[in-house]
Amino acid sequence: MQIITCPYCGAGCRAYVKKELSRPFMIEYVTDINVPNDLGKLCPKGNAMFEHMISKERLKVPLKAIEEGKFVKISWKDAINEIASFIRSYMKDDPNKLMFLAGGKVSNESAYLFQKFARNIGTNNIDNTSHFCHGVSVKAILDSNFERNWATYEEIEESNLIVIWGANLAETFPLIFRRVLKAKSKGAKIIVIDPRKTKTTKFASAHLRPFPGTDIALINALINLLMERRNAKSVLFTTSDLEIIGKYSPEYAEKLTGVPAGDIEKIAREIILAEKGIILWGSGIAMYSNGYDVIRSVITLASMANFKILPLAGQNNSQGVTDMGIMPDLLPGYRTYDDIDFFKKAWKNDELSDEIGLDIAKSIKEAQKGNISAFYIMGANIAVSFPEAEKALKSTEFVIAQDIFPTQTTELADIILPAATFFESDGSTTNVERRIQWSPRVKWPPKDAKPDWAILCELATAVGLEGFGFYFPEEILHEISTLVPQYANADPRTLTRTPEGIIWNMGSSSQPTKVYTSDRMPSFEPPVMITVRYVGQFQTGTMTNRSPSLKARWQDLPILISEEDASKWGIKDDDRVRLVSENGEYIGTVKVSKTILPGTIKAPWHNGANRIMSLRIDEETGLPQMKACSCTIEKVE
Ligand code: SF4
Repeated sequence: MQIITCPYCGAGCRAYVKKELSRPFMIEYVTDINVPNDLGKLCPKGNAMFEHMISKERLKVPLKAIEEGKFVKISWKDAINEIASFIRSYMKDDPNKLMFLAGGKVSNESAYLFQKFARNIGTNNIDNTSHFCHGVSVKAILDSNFERNWATYEEIEESNLIVIWGANLAETFPLIFRRVLKAKSKGAKIIVIDPRKTKTTKFASAHLRPFPGTDIALINALINLLMERRNAKSVLFTTSDLEIIGKYSPEYAEKLTGVPAGDIEKIAREIILAEKGIILWGSGIAMYSNGYDVIRSVITLASMANFKILPLAGQNNSQGVTDMGIMPDLLPGYRTYDDIDFFKKAWKNDELSDEIGLDIAKSIKEAQKGNISAFYIMGANIAVSFPEAEKALKSTEFVIAQDIFPTQTTELADIILPAATFFESDGSTTNVERRIQWSPRVKWPPKDAKPDWAILCELATAVGLEGFGFYFPEEILHEISTLVPQYANADPRTLTRTPEGIIWNMGSSSQPTKVYTSDRMPSFEPPVMITVRYVGQFQTGTMTNRSPSLKARWQDLPILISEEDASKWGIKDDDRVRLVSENGEYIGTVKVSKTILPGTIKAPWHNGANRIMSLRIDEETGLPQMKACSCTIEKVE
């Protein structure tokens, strides 16, 4: 029996795969070793993890567009030659006209090679689709020197106060939520901070509902209250920090957030009294234009209370792609460009650029101005997940899309490369507790499809780059373990023989935590649409909609509005409505719900509601606004 990792969310659950002639891909729960999913249980997505792999809709051969959306089959040789010759034409004089984008579900080995490929071509225009959520969180933790308080799942169970901020854990990370419930059964209190009533809030002893975008005011008020109490750990604030915090009395925070001052005081008391606390957070606070400030402030609060922290990530390798340097401003292992000489030597290339590249949002903007000539997109459906991406791809000369299924993004490609699924190659991924886990191939890819890393090796060689002569992913992991300090213990020999996985090698950091305060806040005119995820759907539905058991139950998910707003707008259950933002419109069927905060609207992420978010980039933070947007609502007659 082989032990594999679930290809969906960032929890990193493991399962045994049993092969029997009549049913070649049977799942058996892992109950004999310590895996991230307690007692080996899986959520509905995990239980259906093989269904998409055998779908008839798989991409199986390279395709070339003869006109938009119309493709003909071509050979691998022709596909590679055409892409290589396009890249070579930009490589010498204008590599920054190329943009490289990867999804957060590609393996560490493929992710590492993807950025190595881009950087050796001469550009740092490389980013991953988890950047504005998990990438922001990881950067905030590292900038705060707070990695030592990054929790493992076992530490959730040991906590007696668990704060879940901006995440519906019971729905989106059910197996991490099991750990929370275990702690609750031992007496832990659970505080949930989320504008919505959710499956998670049902288990909370307290539920605070700040209006979308105002969380930082709540954090500042909590920091203020902790500062007043002597038993909060003293940390070094600057005068300007103190000025910011000083403004945030519970009453002032109530005005901004809508959370009653008395509740804020109660929560502050709980935090102060907790012996062992932890804060878990998700995209509900990270994906705002002030997301970095919010997360740094959460970490400041956690450091004052001496709490553990755990950032949550939507994709199975959001952590790994960030570790591997699929970021425009960070090299593998979070080295900055001051360390570029390290990679010049390692990769034997003196020409590496030390200029920070474009991130996804900026590349989408630049493409529309004609400043990007090509996108190479590996395992990401940005035409649905990012606003304005469709326009950007249409204004670009050449689009390469490498994926396992046709998507709205591959529709806009010039060349489509058929990739292997996660189970059709060996490789490692890293979950949100930073556990690196090896997952072996359970079947060969269909027809001409190939693993991402193998495609990259062929392409790099065709382009004329050195250092891509890999025959096995283990060889790539070996290179990673020698160059990425956090993976120093995860050499292939050890990792492939350690089914429990290996937690990041941390070294010993004695750096003090750097505190940070801010009161930068986006402002929204109600109604505000927020996008949310469901247990049976994943990202843009590329895999889950090809999984019959998931599609049957979780395809048509409604737009939720509050009872107050429904009667104000004259809208009732099953009405078709159009949500219109500055960036477009999203149409869906309404369900009126008691769970929704008046002035807010909840729309399902996987159906493309994200497309109407604003890609306006905040000048000070450099981040777009990807979690919430003001919109209007109208009935579709
Ligand atoms: S919680 Fe996440 S990793 Fe675990 S089975 Fe479900 S989708 Fe897979």
